[in-house]
Amino acid sequence: MTYSIAIDGPAGAGKSTIAKVVSQELKFVYIDTGAMYRAIGLYMLRCGVAPDDEEKVCALLEEADVSIGYLDGRQQVFLNDENVSGLIRTPQAGDAASKVSVFGRVREKLVELQQRLAEKENVVMDGRDIGTVVLPNATLKIFLTASPECRAQRRYLELVEKGQGTSMEQVMKELLERDYRDMNRASSPLRQAEDAVLVDTSDMNIYEVSQTIIRMFRERTAQA
Ligand code: C5P
Repeated sequence: MTYSIAIDGPAGAGKSTIAKVVSQELKFVYIDTGAMYRAIGLYMLRCGVAPDDEEKVCALLEEADVSIGYLDGRQQVFLNDENVSGLIRTPQAGDAASKVSVFGRVREKLVELQQRLAEKENVVMDGRDIGTVVLPNATLKIFLTASPECRAQRRYLELVEKGQGTSMEQVMKELLERDYRDMNRASSPLRQAEDAVLVDTSDMNIYEVSQTIIRMFRERTAQA
């Protein structure tokens, strides 16, 4: 039997930061599913295909082999055996990911990979549909959110730190577009699972959020 913690929520809520801390403390494997959608998005950009062109994206999907591995405990994403972990962390790849992730065929391919990974080990998995679709029987489901201003501010600081020049207005605009697309797509839209616990991180720091989740997980498994 394996344990799993599903963390879903909109962009900039702090999912990956929190998931990393929680997985380290519990010694679980961290699986960042957004990275997989980003890898498919990157593949389409490289092929010169518009990521919102369903026919072309689906036609090329078979050629894009996505897999993950770990280096010093950090998840690495491979696209046809090339490590693209650094290349997918751009606003362009994020935008392409959000567009290709609308298509059912893309989701089916990646959900299957994600479910296979969680069968073997204890995992903390973050994304948009983990509690609702990928791991409906997760030990603990968290829906992590924060105000749009707070999420945009975090994203902005992250990009500035990486030397990627942008403005707060631009970040806010892209974030709201992404939220809208994620929540309104037909195939597994972003929504809180009925049995997920809502955690608003607007006024909480990383330590407080991670400890809240770890405490909930321990309480839940102690009762089991
Ligand atoms: O979390 P991240 O920003 O890396 O995700 C990029 C995009 O991939 C999201 O905006 C979302 O559209 C998509 N995604 C998804 N389902 C997931 C993870 C990410 O649709 N489980």
